[in-house]
Order: sequence, then structure tokens, then C-alpha cells
Amino acid sequence: MSLREELLAQKYNERTKPRGFVYFTDADGQVVAKTCRKCRKLKQSENYHQKSDGFGQLGPYCKICVSARDREYYDKNRERLKRVKYAYYRRKRAEQLSFKLFDDND
Ligand SMILES: [Zn+2]
Repeated sequence: MSLREELLAQKYNERTKPRGFVYFTDADGQVVAKTCRKCRKLKQSENYHQKSDGFGQLGPYCKICVSARDREYYDKNRERLKRVKYAYYRRKRAEQLSFKLFDDND
């Protein structure tokens, strides 16, 4: 049984928005499942992070897509992030050295 069939069997309301975006609500209008905007799969609300201004108070992407995106971001920016960290370290170190020089001259 697919999730869609399961939700329909549980008497949740199926709703659709343009571009194939499907979601389900319970009797109170609470979103119980919706389509991930990235992988396009229908997933239950616990598969989304909370987001107060998101649709159904949920983020647009499922947790799997969010973590995949974060990992991709890190991989793509690994060199840059390393450089930023190194530049910070060098600056801090230079500051410490100049304090030391100042102490020695005193
Ligand atoms: Zn997804």
C-alpha cells in the first residue's frame, strides 16, 4: 500500500496545488503529509523540519534532501571554508605576536 493509499484510508483529505504538489490534511486542516519540492515524493510531516513560516509549518524539502544539500554545500565549499579558517587563524596569530613584541619592548 502506498503512502497515498494509506492516507486516504485514514480519511485524510487529499489536496493538490499547481505543478503536481500534493498534500494531505487532517480534519483540523493540519498538514499531515506533503510533496517534497526537491525529490517530489509524498512524505509524512515528520519527514520535514519545522519551519514556522513554511507551508503547513514545515520546510519545503524533506529531511533527506536537506541533509544531502548540506553535504553538497560542504563538499563544494570545503576548500573555501578551509581557507577562511586558516586566514582567521593567521590573523589571530599575528595579533598575538604583535602583543608579544609590544610586551618585549616595554
Ligand atoms: Zn525530498
